[in-house]
Amino acid sequence: MSYTYDPENIFAKILRGEIPNATVFESEHTLAFNDIAPAAPTHVLIIPKGPYVSYDHFSAEASDAEILDFTRAINEVCKITGVNMDVGNGFRAIANTGRDGVQDVPHFHLHIIGGRHMGRMVQKAD
Ligand code: 5GP
Repeated sequence: MSYTYDPENIFAKILRGEIPNATVFESEHTLAFNDIAPAAPTHVLIIPKGPYVSYDHFSAEASDAEILDFTRAINEVCKITGVNMDVGNGFRAIANTGRDGVQDVPHFHLHIIGGRHMGRMVQKAD
């Protein structure tokens, strides 16, 4: 399986500092920032700094250090935004992937969405 990464995608430009972002958390391999069109009071995008198209690409080819750093960043973001399960009310984590997953930006990102009740996850198939 080979994945093709487009370095002109909008999140690559954010990582290069070419367009601004509202950073929530940053670590060696990971950046988290507020979604420009939030779907709920909390809507943060967590992205690896490396050039990965999708979650499956990331999980296949990222280094152990990148995967560990990204995973720990999820907890940091949930703590910072107050949606973590030990003190908050929870959240939804979404990784839209590819055409069927309706992924708009081809740089792997995890949506952390919360601050309100999210409703059921997906519509049932007809
Ligand atoms: P996707 O549909 O690919 O899972 O989600 C892409 C997300 O990126 C959308 O929720 C959209 O609002 C967000 N987004 C698109 N362009 C920008 C941008 O320039 N800055 C930020 N912060 N978010 C963006």
